[in-house]
Amino acid sequence: MSRRCRIPDCTRNAAPRRRICWAHKNRLYRYQDPHLKVRNITHPEDIRPVVEDRLPDHGLTFTDRRTAARELAARGVHPAEIAELIGVTERTVYRWQAQARQNAA
Ligand SMILES: [Zn+2]
Repeated sequence: MSRRCRIPDCTRNAAPRRRICWAHKNRLYRYQDPHLKVRNITHPEDIRPVVEDRLPDHGLTFTDRRTAARELAARGVHPAEIAELIGVTERTVYRWQAQARQNAA
């Protein structure tokens, strides 16, 4: 008896007692836009202080974190320091670098 989310093209079921799914509910609530995907948002001006001045910023979006990690690595920064600057684990930095190598191959 579950119903589909009412947002066009959404294939998820509506959340209990709601007409839209959880993902769309959260996007509407946080950003007033059901189609916004937060991981794709980028604020290039937020990346510069991290990369150039080595100022920690743990509030970067997913995409910006990866960009900052790539640029820091290109400057020879150790993955442990990259992890600390952008607020992820060192393991995540290594995983991103491995993925980048795979995509390049
Ligand atoms: Zn939906």
